[in-house]
Amino acid sequence: MKGDWIKAWSKAPTSGDVATKQENCPPKQKRANGLARVAAGWLILQSVLLTPAFAAGEKANKTYSELLQQIEAGQVSKIIIDPAQQTAKVTLKDTKRSEYEVTLFDKYPEIYQKVRDSNKQGEKIQLDIQPTPDHSAALGLVANLLLILLVIGGLMMILRRSTQAGGQAMNFGKSRARFSMEAKTGILFDDVAGIEEAKEELQEVVTFLKKPERFTAVGARIPKGVLLIGPPGTGKTLLAKAIAGEAGVPFFSMSGSEFVEMFVGVGASRVRDLFRKAKENAPCLVFIDEIDAVGRQRGAGIGGGNDEREQTLNQLLTEMDGFEGNSGVIIIAATNRSDVLDTALLRPGRFDRQIMVDLPGYNGRLGILQVHARNKKLSADVSLETIARRTPGFSGADLANLMNEAAILTARRRKDSIGDQEIDDAIDRITIGLSLTPLLDSKKKRLIAYHEIGHALLSTLLKNADPLNKVTIIPRSGGTGGFSQQVFNEEMVDSGLYTRAWMLDRITIALGGRAAEAEVFGEAEITTGAASDIRYVADTARDMVARWGMSKLGPMALEGSSGEVFLGRDWMARSECSEEVSSEIDRCVRSMVLESYETARQLIRENRQLLDRLVDLLLDQETIEGEQFRQIVSQYTQLPEHQTADR
Ligand code: ADP
Ligand code: MG
Ligand code: ZN
Repeated sequence: MKGDWIKAWSKAPTSGDVATKQENCPPKQKRANGLARVAAGWLILQSVLLTPAFAAGEKANKTYSELLQQIEAGQVSKIIIDPAQQTAKVTLKDTKRSEYEVTLFDKYPEIYQKVRDSNKQGEKIQLDIQPTPDHSAALGLVANLLLILLVIGGLMMILRRSTQAGGQAMNFGKSRARFSMEAKTGILFDDVAGIEEAKEELQEVVTFLKKPERFTAVGARIPKGVLLIGPPGTGKTLLAKAIAGEAGVPFFSMSGSEFVEMFVGVGASRVRDLFRKAKENAPCLVFIDEIDAVGRQRGAGIGGGNDEREQTLNQLLTEMDGFEGNSGVIIIAATNRSDVLDTALLRPGRFDRQIMVDLPGYNGRLGILQVHARNKKLSADVSLETIARRTPGFSGADLANLMNEAAILTARRRKDSIGDQEIDDAIDRITIGLSLTPLLDSKKKRLIAYHEIGHALLSTLLKNADPLNKVTIIPRSGGTGGFSQQVFNEEMVDSGLYTRAWMLDRITIALGGRAAEAEVFGEAEITTGAASDIRYVADTARDMVARWGMSKLGPMALEGSSGEVFLGRDWMARSECSEEVSSEIDRCVRSMVLESYETARQLIRENRQLLDRLVDLLLDQETIEGEQFRQIVSQYTQLPEHQTADR
């Protein structure tokens, strides 16, 4: 469509046919006519302009031959020829000096001839050649220009929109820092529980942000950066927000991974942006989450150096050195692996304060539960102490989630307050998964029941095992067909000190599922359902031999911790022992596992009748609580001492 217009208008001014149309118009009218044509041209096609009706020129009252006759007759006083328009303007000798226009053809030598002849005979005919300004040509040009401008404008708009949408490719130089700013976080220290030491240390930062004079008066240098180190969900972000909230200063936050982009130099410019904004808003707090994303050891890593990351880190260091310690900007960074950080980040004047934010202990968990129970309705039978005791290893985020899940379950069950049952179910939901509808009776269900009872029976029979909490064959999301759960050993988990006997029994219990499958259904029928049990066994046994010195190989750490293969350092340092020792370790791990498996098989075999009875009960009830389980077991065999006592 557009193409047609361009063609139409570039043709129009040069077309002889168009010109004819103007022959008898006075100049003013001609322009108006031309404009009208421009306007019309947008709507109607060019063919209209070229119609013979126009070409005929309805006002042409004299023809070429009539003009020649008049010249001969001596009636003409003046002729002005316009070669561009191919017209001749004729003025007559009569008293009114009337004028008219005549259309000329390509060549018109007759006019010159006749005029010359007449003038020789004494006539005085003026003959001028004078082009009239060609309005239509000018208008055509304007129209063309307009159209071109329009097309260019349209193209530019499309282009601009695509660069905006397509993002950084076109304007990566101008970094748009992706930090967020909260003028008031609204979070106070009271909302953070269980990390009292960290809070105490950070109290000082709050005072500095509020009353810097107190420090500067005595010449104290204020720490610029604080590094919070701890596992995910322990409240590092929350703590940083609480500092800003307590001090009443703006909170800038950005994740370390946001700095790093595809293009080299973008990260560095984002760092500059962030610090410029922060300085404008001082006093304020800048929070950099996941700083390990940029702050890794430079020059380490298997993939070779990462230029972009190094540049970003260098810029960060420069900025931290650049601003005065007392300018009122405090940087708090968080990571869960300080071991990978570049040492340059940790030296004094940068992140010189490092605060551990660990998983909460019993008191911490209780405190966190209290914080999150504040706005919830708990029934009288719920004791936060019991929940805290049952949830070792839970982070603050897990506990917050637990209380929320319990509240959701309560609402779903249309109760007015959260009860013990809801808390219980919420814990299972978080640790194991959503419960699904029970399987229909089938061979698969029987096999799962034997597998789980295998675990449960061993946790009840073994001397150093933690007592059974419950065993169930209600499936859970994530592919769990059922589970057998022991009571948490608060003491051991909280202290982090596990005994060899306890771990050996754990291995045996883990193998109990597979052992029951094999005893009951035969070696040919064992299933992949034991995959995670087997994985756990292999890892634990290997750690016992190679890291904790709990085997006949003696108290020697023969391997570093596994994982962290991403770091050049650790990767290089991984194998610390000779090939013989390596195979020795393998042999040791194997005999340890096989021994445990034999123990498990034997116990199952000896208690086959009991096993069958428990399986029938489980298939019937779908869940057996620890109490009932022990009571049945005690009818068949002697329970270990600690299992009979207070449970
Ligand atoms: P992190 O940054 O360490 O990964 P967050 O600060 O994002 O953890 O914690 C996530 C959520 O968990 C918080 O919003 C809060 O509700 C809860 N939470 C975590 N730790 C605590 C704590 N010590 N006290 C109260 N709530 C906590
Ligand atoms: Mg966080
Ligand atoms: Zn299992």
